[in-house]
Amino acid sequence: MIAKHKTRVMVTGGAGFIGSHLCDLLLKRGYDVLCVDNFYTGTKHNIIHLLDNPFFELLRHDITFPLYVEVDQIYNLACPASPVHYQYDPVQTTKTCVHGSINMLGLAKRTRAKILQASTSEVYGDPEVHPQNETYWGRVNCTGVRSCYDEGKRCAETLFFDYYRQHRVAIKIGRIFNTYGPKMHPNDGRVVSNFVVQALRGEDITVYGDGSQTRSFCYVDDLVEGLIRLMESDESVTGPINLGCPVEFTVRQLAELVLRTANSSSKLTFKPLPPDDPVQRKPDITKAKEILGWEPRVFLEEGIIKVVEYFRSVLPS
Ligand code: NAD
Ligand code: UDP
Repeated sequence: MIAKHKTRVMVTGGAGFIGSHLCDLLLKRGYDVLCVDNFYTGTKHNIIHLLDNPFFELLRHDITFPLYVEVDQIYNLACPASPVHYQYDPVQTTKTCVHGSINMLGLAKRTRAKILQASTSEVYGDPEVHPQNETYWGRVNCTGVRSCYDEGKRCAETLFFDYYRQHRVAIKIGRIFNTYGPKMHPNDGRVVSNFVVQALRGEDITVYGDGSQTRSFCYVDDLVEGLIRLMESDESVTGPINLGCPVEFTVRQLAELVLRTANSSSKLTFKPLPPDDPVQRKPDITKAKEILGWEPRVFLEEGIIKVVEYFRSVLPS
């Protein structure tokens, strides 16, 4: 008798920070995983421990080009997420969001796969509504330096809904809020990895602006659980659904927490605030709680301990 095949899951951006954690958890849960990545910000180190697993495959591919594979589910995570990296080649960022989504949606349409889009809190821009819930349309500058990412991700959501209405593709949209954890790249440029790396190296902690802007930080293990619950949710659930931690911190509070946790004597240094940097951000996760039975479990204080331990183990002493 031939065994029933495992569910074949493709993770684009699977060698990146969140994608590599997602590949780990999917394999643990018994899925057959195809990781697709062009290694723009991701690295083979993030998935090297999976390369001997017969249910894990790695494909170097840029999703702005068409791809022909047979899969049952697609998690579309490919896209640089750090402002430093998505602004480095903004045209490629927009192409990844827009052409990449068209290619992945076309693949979902042909294979009848379910497809989940890793969208972002950036679709809300610099919000006037606080906390942000999914009915808020956002306040995004369409000509600024963040627009390649913000508008790219907004256009991707439009495409997902048009493929859903026009072609009946089974879509799921998760709006991810700031997520952190082990395997962030030391040069990633986002606030948590910057602060922890600076604290461990005894360098100044670069606070942009006066540090009063807020973010809400979700630990990566919690986030990937939310992504899988969203993918496995009832067919009628398309989202968008916010996935993030509803506890808000100022950037300055984060810096102080990192200094205490790393037992570091680094000093804070204040740098200019980047253009269009959102002043406040906190998700309303009522929908995620009600529809997915999901909410984060890891407090920032615990998560930062894990990130400090991780960077202690990978940075040269
Ligand atoms: P990351 O930069 O670590 O991972 C992105 C991955 O996508 C990398 O491995 C990169 O090499 C790959 N990639 C980029 N362009 C590609 C292309 N054209 N073709 C194939 N692969 C490509 O970022 P992350 O934090 O892991 O984010 C993953 C996804 O989650 C992104 O789509 C991001 O927009 C979304 N997201 C992340 C956060 C967060 O806080 N981490 C918040 C909101 C949304
Ligand atoms: N930030 C900072 N110092 C850094 C990196 C970032 O003060 O070294 C600030 C940044 O200006 C923003 C917040 O931290 O207000 C979160 O930035 P990040 O790049 O992590 O993500 P964003 O939420 O802006 O996409």
